[in-house]
Amino acid sequence: MDFAISEKMQAVLELINEFIERELMPLEKDFLGRPWEEIAPVLERKREMVKRMELWAPLHPKEHGGMGLGLVEYGLVCEALARTPTGVYVFGCQAPDAGNIEILLKYATPAQRERYLEPLVAGRIRSCFSMTEPDQPGSNPVMLDTTAVKDGGDYLINGHKWYTSSADGAEFAIVMAVTDPQAPPHLRASMIIVPTDTPGFNLVRNIPVMGHAGGGWHSHAEILYQNCRVPRENLLGPEGQGFVIAQERLGPGRIHHCMRWIGICKRVLDMMCERALTRASAPGRRLADEQIIQSWIAESAAEMRAARLMVLNCAWRIETMGQKEARQDISLIKFYTAGIMQRVIDRALQLHGGLGMTDDTLVAWFFRHERSARIYDGVDEVHKVSVAKRILREYARAHNLA
Ligand SMILES: Cc1cc2nc3c(=O)[nH]c(=O)nc-3n(C[C@H](O)[C@H](O)[C@H](O)COP(=O)(O)OP(=O)(O)OC[C@H]3O[C@@H](n4cnc5c(N)ncnc54)[C@H](O)[C@@H]3O)c2cc1C
Repeated sequence: MDFAISEKMQAVLELINEFIERELMPLEKDFLGRPWEEIAPVLERKREMVKRMELWAPLHPKEHGGMGLGLVEYGLVCEALARTPTGVYVFGCQAPDAGNIEILLKYATPAQRERYLEPLVAGRIRSCFSMTEPDQPGSNPVMLDTTAVKDGGDYLINGHKWYTSSADGAEFAIVMAVTDPQAPPHLRASMIIVPTDTPGFNLVRNIPVMGHAGGGWHSHAEILYQNCRVPRENLLGPEGQGFVIAQERLGPGRIHHCMRWIGICKRVLDMMCERALTRASAPGRRLADEQIIQSWIAESAAEMRAARLMVLNCAWRIETMGQKEARQDISLIKFYTAGIMQRVIDRALQLHGGLGMTDDTLVAWFFRHERSARIYDGVDEVHKVSVAKRILREYARAHNLA
């Protein structure tokens, strides 16, 4: 493995870092304090600047207007962009659109490409992904209540979803619904594209998450699908393959998330250092002079380095051996990196004292919003169980203990 960064990527990362520091970090207070409708036009202008710099949509293929980076390269970009909350949005690689684009690239029909994929990659519209339901365990997504019943040339969709992130203002949802209740559990559901102006697509509310309902891209909606009728040609990929496609969406997506979390840790560690070097702890002493604070900084740096190498190694394994071979690595990095991020942010909050609890710095915002890393894209426990089962199975096989 060689993680040396090519000269081309080094130049790209420098441009991105400069842009973030010059154009996006000064917007942070507005992003934290103003409603989405007010901040969105400002971000739109920044997006135009990114497009002119040819740094738009780093993950997506060149023929679709993106930069066409590989997984390791894109991971490094995610790490840089995550240092500020609007980074991924301004560079056109925000969730859930990025994951939706990946599955549309693979499965969309020519008509779906024209209507949904092209404007989505170009950043003219937004989308959402509607799988989780309030009444069923998201950790075991084969248990879905939402149905899509064939009715003439249409699907009639009924169901109750929540945590459909960014549905507010999105043009369409990719909905997971049961199309064949009699099929084996993993073949029951399909993905169906539902334009959000379809009658029966009812956005009930943006759910308050850690005290904030948010708005626009930065929100999580509860949605009722009530006799929501879409033509059968809105099926995305083969019928009954919803779970297979969902898995494809999640694998590389976890690299993006994990590298983003490392980027957040980097920003937070910078904030820890700045505060430690400028805040007095006693006459003639600063927080930076206290050994316990030094220990937090050293532990954070070590954990971040370990997580980063694990994630890059996993990205390299996916690129060289394929997603299937890297399944265990993907689970390992998901829960490990989310846990490290939570610890680093918590230390930063503690170091900032009362200030850490306020919105006068980004620490509290990261603390609130990034707690969910241990829940979405597979809860910690499910990933741990899957890793442990595999290790035990292999040990049992090797030692005749099966
Ligand atoms: C910020 C955020 C954004 C999200 N965005 C989206 C989105 O865009 N689209 C979408 O469809 N969904 C989204 N989700 C939903 C997310 O995917 C689910 O919350 C997640 O899959 C967990 O499902 P659940 O909430 O139903 O928890 P449950 O399945 O009810 O699990 C609750 C808890 O039980 C424990 N648990 C569950 N199963 C096991 C087990 N087998 N062994 C041991 N312990 C277990 C875990 O501690 C788990 O946290 C989002 C969630 C959050 C928080």
